[in-house]
Amino acid sequence: MRSNKTLEELRKDRIEKAKELEDPIQISDIAFTIQSGSDPDKSYMVEKGSDGKWVCDCPDFQFRKYEELECKHIIRVKEYLERKARVKIEARRLEPVVDASFYG
Ligand SMILES: [Zn+2]
Repeated sequence: MRSNKTLEELRKDRIEKAKELEDPIQISDIAFTIQSGSDPDKSYMVEKGSDGKWVCDCPDFQFRKYEELECKHIIRVKEYLERKARVKIEARRLEPVVDASFYG
């Protein structure tokens, strides 16, 4: 396979593909399973290592060209965690705004 794509281009490809994936399933604080985009019967394990780096057991990650290139599963898991954290912050922010007189 011949590819002259830069790290940035490869990363963009994966960010696009990550959007098509289902939500990951959290199995512990640092581990998730996520369905394969090409084969719904298959799922991959995404885990955060003790060094803070995410790893995935899919072939794309195992055989990646660049050390710092994350596969779409890792991108999707990180996006999922960010979204969850954002929802929590927004929920907290909304609380004091609730004013009973507004509904009365
Ligand atoms: Zn992967």
